[in-house]
Amino acid sequence: MIVVMRQSQLFTKTSKTGPADEPSKNAQLLTRGGFIYKNSAGVYSYLPLGWRVIGKISKIIREEMNAIGGQEMFMPALVEKTYMEKTGRGELGVGFRVKDKIGPEAYVLGWTHEEVIATITSKSINSYKDLPFYAYQIQTKFRSEGRAKSGLLRGHEFLMKDLYSFHESEEDLFKYYGRVKEAYFKVFERCGLKTIYTLAGGGAFTISNTHEFQVVAAVGEDTIFVCEKCGYAENSEISKLKQRDECSSHLPDGQKCGGRVLEKKSIEVGNIFPLGTKYAEAFGLEFQDKEGRKKPVVMGSYGIGVSRLMGTVVEVHHDEKGIIWPKEVAPFDAHLLCLSPENKNVRAEAERVYDLLEKNHVEVLY
Ligand code: ATP
Ligand code: MG
Repeated sequence: MIVVMRQSQLFTKTSKTGPADEPSKNAQLLTRGGFIYKNSAGVYSYLPLGWRVIGKISKIIREEMNAIGGQEMFMPALVEKTYMEKTGRGELGVGFRVKDKIGPEAYVLGWTHEEVIATITSKSINSYKDLPFYAYQIQTKFRSEGRAKSGLLRGHEFLMKDLYSFHESEEDLFKYYGRVKEAYFKVFERCGLKTIYTLAGGGAFTISNTHEFQVVAAVGEDTIFVCEKCGYAENSEISKLKQRDECSSHLPDGQKCGGRVLEKKSIEVGNIFPLGTKYAEAFGLEFQDKEGRKKPVVMGSYGIGVSRLMGTVVEVHHDEKGIIWPKEVAPFDAHLLCLSPENKNVRAEAERVYDLLEKNHVEVLY
């Protein structure tokens, strides 16, 4: 990443007004600051400043994923429909279908990659010695979502980090699940966000409940019930809790918590899933255990909405004057302004400071 940049060379401009049809703060402030450009509903370009922020967020995610053994890779956005058909997900409403010369709608634009990675890894897993391992990518996903009116919070095209884990046993999966949870907290904290670890429902492809990382924000499309005292939270899709209920979860000392439950609007920035063996069974993903028996591989998958995360940072960190970037995700460390460029001495001093910052590897927008 370039360390220093002259603002006069930026091709983007700031503007006093944001998009008329996007009321969310992130759409307004990011557009006005020249960070993003809305090409169509739910489809955005990241302009040089915005792309730097995405770069910072991605760097944090990579560091934390690498720290828990994640191996970065990159999978195609163009996914042949036969992949998704093996799990019956070819016809799901959320995928954009692609018409082309090969055959009518032979492809979907990838909206998730369990099927793709299960196919790839089925070629390399033979024995228990090949497990466990963890692979992730930061890549564009496409989802035909009805509602795309919250800026970066919900796109038709968006950036996701998706991590997949492969294990011998459920026990090993849940051990790793705990490590991912801790890594996710670090990612969000470094982005300046406090997240609430929230119990969510499972589905046909999970072996138990899943968990979401929720950021409390008025603009959020999700509703969660969270205990004021112990922080235990459930999403509204599964929760039987109500506002002001007494929290019945148990504290480490075995006592009932009894705290007050609050209802909050929130944004889901990440989601983790204990998948179990459903994908492995669909794709013949097997290994031989120590006794020579063939067994299906146990999988987990773990998502972070990279672009949604950027929008969420803006929703949480702004005032009436604009965005207040947390240090680690700011496009530059310093913004140097020469207020009287017509004065030769002032200008020379500004140039001197600029050079000094550059020499010391301080990222500066001059
Ligand atoms: P939601 O309930 O918000 O639609 P999801 O449960 O469909 O999300 P996942 O499939 O788990 O989401 O995707 C992983 C992460 O990708 C989510 O936690 C979220 O942060 C992000 N994400 C999902 N859909 C979108 C979207 N349309 N635009 C931007 N980010 C998204
Ligand atoms: Mg969704």
